[in-house]
Amino acid sequence: MAKNHLNITRVFCIGLNYAEHIRELSHDTPAAPVIFMKPATCVIGPGEKIHFPMHGKDFHHEVELVVKVGEEGKPRTEAEALSFVDSITVGLDLTLRDIQKDLRKNGMPWEISKAFDQSAPVGDFAPYTKALDLKNISFGCRVNGVERQKGNTNSMIHGIPALLMAVSKVWKLYPGDLLFTGTPAGVGPLSVGDTIEIYGDGIGTFSWNIIE
Ligand code: MG
Repeated sequence: MAKNHLNITRVFCIGLNYAEHIRELSHDTPAAPVIFMKPATCVIGPGEKIHFPMHGKDFHHEVELVVKVGEEGKPRTEAEALSFVDSITVGLDLTLRDIQKDLRKNGMPWEISKAFDQSAPVGDFAPYTKALDLKNISFGCRVNGVERQKGNTNSMIHGIPALLMAVSKVWKLYPGDLLFTGTPAGVGPLSVGDTIEIYGDGIGTFSWNIIE
């Protein structure tokens, strides 16, 4: 399978996993995790450039905790799912909200609103150890130094093991798969010239500039 330059295999994303974010989008809470994908070629690392996409106007940040899979297979229990976690970081599920709204209204797939080039910037990965409590990690983002999103994984509707199990019901997991686990409230627009900074407790702080 082709991999990108960061050795990412596939990118799974979870939508609508924080109650306050569901409220800000005026959406109903889904019964099961909402899963979508981005091509691995959407992933960029710290220091790479983010170009403002040319096919939309309302370019939103969604900061999320990101899990990298280190095992091949299908976990059968939540405890087993935890052993599939290789490392974690924070990332951005960049979204063209105007395009997504149109697609949603017309019942069309989301790809062009979410799965475009550079739509999945990620920080450096921190190894996952049992000392790290995936149910209690604070993370967030600032734009030009101003706090925009602040969240904690303790507010997830579906926790990380449950999400890995939900994904693996459909797709066998492979090392190098990423899972974006949903965004907390506070999503908002980015403009050319902005600097976005994302951070996670025990993970680090990473930033990107938005250019034309
Ligand atoms: Mg998202």
